[in-house]
Amino acid sequence: MLDSMYAPLVEMSTEWMGDGACSGKSDLFFAPFAERPEARVRRENQARTICEECSALGQCRTWARENRELGFWGGESEAERAAAGFAPTTPIIGRRRVAEERAAKALAKAV
Ligand code: SF4
Repeated sequence: MLDSMYAPLVEMSTEWMGDGACSGKSDLFFAPFAERPEARVRRENQARTICEECSALGQCRTWARENRELGFWGGESEAERAAAGFAPTTPIIGRRRVAEERAAKALAKAV
């Protein structure tokens, strides 16, 4: 049961993750506790600069959008993904809800 809650919402290749220019720089891509807005802007600008040079940018952005990831992925912040219609979900309840909605849509198409 726990495995299914943390599984990706969309099955996609993850081979591109090994090519990420962000390797070893997680502190720039995920917010620390109680981060101030000004610090977030600075941190995300640094992350964006790294993403712009990354060969995996397109695949990373798609992954983050489809899987409703938290943090900075594929040159996009959580706010930017939300504005594009891919709002991050809460880790457990939100991911389960999105997975259930997608399963219901797939079932409706199959009938
Ligand atoms: S696009 Fe950005 S977040 Fe995605 S793998 Fe590349 S450097 Fe990392």
